[in-house]
Amino acid sequence: MIEIEASNLSKHYGKLEALKHFELKVNSGDCLVILGPNGAGKSTFLKISTNVVHPSSGYVSIRGTRVDEDPMRALSSVGPLIELPEFYPYLNGVEILSYVCKVKGANRETVSSEVERLTSELKMTEFVKRKSGQYSRGMKQRLALACAMAMDPEILILDEPTFGLDPKGMKEFVNIITDLNKKKRRTVVLSTHLISEAREIANRVIIVNNGEKKVEMLNDRDTKMMKISLYSPGDLTFLESENVSIIEGKEEEVTVKVPDKMENDQILSLLIKNGIRVKWAEPINSIEQKYLEVVE
Ligand code: ADP
Ligand code: MG
Repeated sequence: MIEIEASNLSKHYGKLEALKHFELKVNSGDCLVILGPNGAGKSTFLKISTNVVHPSSGYVSIRGTRVDEDPMRALSSVGPLIELPEFYPYLNGVEILSYVCKVKGANRETVSSEVERLTSELKMTEFVKRKSGQYSRGMKQRLALACAMAMDPEILILDEPTFGLDPKGMKEFVNIITDLNKKKRRTVVLSTHLISEAREIANRVIIVNNGEKKVEMLNDRDTKMMKISLYSPGDLTFLESENVSIIEGKEEEVTVKVPDKMENDQILSLLIKNGIRVKWAEPINSIEQKYLEVVE
């Protein structure tokens, strides 16, 4: 089932084209990561998807309802996190979460159990009773995530959700999202500028740059690749007989796909044994490879 569909979506801010003829389909159960550098158009797409801004042309529909035509209905199964929301500084985390749960339709008993669940899942126990005005960036980010996850929506739309989290917080977040996606089959769309995050969390990745979708790919976690820089171009056909395939070869720079069981230094000794002089070699993954191709 298609959960989210963007059709010929464009957004202009004055002369600037933040999004150009953007097309996307998100299937039920996807964990889709939108990867791109700052200013690529990630937030613009997610804002249009959650009715925060209107498209200049085209539309987004969620479960068959156009967001611009009937936002209430279209967003009824969506937990959104768009940039860092402003919280009333004099309210504490419990008050904010309770309010969000009530808005999402929780009754009195559900509210307190839901707030407890979110507080524990997002590791907010230590600070949840403090006024949100005193929170650090990372604490606010956790609270914002808890708001998005409140009442367990079937679709999560998260704009740079790990921004401002420390490495431990990021790891925890990746685990939470992976569980939601794999165990509970929630559909997740999130943006990031971090290749490593996309690789860890996504089943599908799209790479955007300058308002355009440049790449759409499956996250092939298990493919081992290596980027090798040579002193001079050489004949590398001997690699094929070792099941190492050349994915891209530009004179002195080649990318090869390495069999699972082969260690990186085995590749190096193979090259050296065949008289190839190697300047440097480093492991690379397929998302990184594509990213370097399309983001200059
Ligand atoms: P990303 O989230 O990928 O960093 P954005 O979608 O926020 O990128 O921005 C895409 C482009 O649109 C950028 O060039 C940005 O400066 C521009 N932009 C975003 N919001 C506005 C706005 N409200 N007014 C004018 N330009 C904007
Ligand atoms: Mg952004």
